[in-house]
Amino acid sequence: MKIAEMTWMQVEEYLKTDDRCVLPLGSTEQHAYISLATDSILSERLALEVAEPFSVPVFPVLAYGITPYFMGYPGTVTISPSTYEQLLQEILGSIRRHGFRRILVVNGHGGNSPARPAVEAWAGRKDGVQLLWHNWWKAPDVREAIDEIDPDASHASWMETFPWTRVDGVDVPQEHKAPVDLSGRDEISPQGFKEIMGDGSFGGWYERSDEEMKAVWAVAVSETRAKLESGWSS
Ligand SMILES: [Zn+2]
Repeated sequence: MKIAEMTWMQVEEYLKTDDRCVLPLGSTEQHAYISLATDSILSERLALEVAEPFSVPVFPVLAYGITPYFMGYPGTVTISPSTYEQLLQEILGSIRRHGFRRILVVNGHGGNSPARPAVEAWAGRKDGVQLLWHNWWKAPDVREAIDEIDPDASHASWMETFPWTRVDGVDVPQEHKAPVDLSGRDEISPQGFKEIMGDGSFGGWYERSDEEMKAVWAVAVSETRAKLESGWSS
């Protein structure tokens, strides 16, 4: 259930019977031929589908994250790790204050991971709070489904090219891009990074059939839903 489509009274009622919620995390960054908002679109959509059968509230996606290496690509926005950690802790603190105790973080961007230890430590200091940080695109079942199709799939490749992340009027290349060597990427300037990356895809096919995409998505929904349903310790 989208928080954007609820009143505070409905949240109050919900909290009398359940204490779960979902917070999707995204990023605004280059994704080659698909949307700059890909990570936000996917994590929020997945969160909503996953939470739907349980009527669990889904907070609005945090659409900005940590992505300094893509700053050579127009449209990308980055937040420093310390600011991001602080922001997440304040958001989670607000959520907790109202009575939510089991918080599923559905993360859609690998660059956000440096904030994970701080966020988990925050949860550890709060009595009764359980926080699950779920990187949906690299969870075991999803990765297995992806690897069966193309083990080179990575950032901005077909694995993120869904009907809902495509950009109108943009044709996606039909070739398979050789994986780009990303070693030492933290030491490279944004401009240098762009020279190595070119269009911004890290490698693999740029797109696959709708049928294959539906199958991968179904795995993501069921794997993430299992976390929301039974990933908690009692
Ligand atoms: Zn992405």
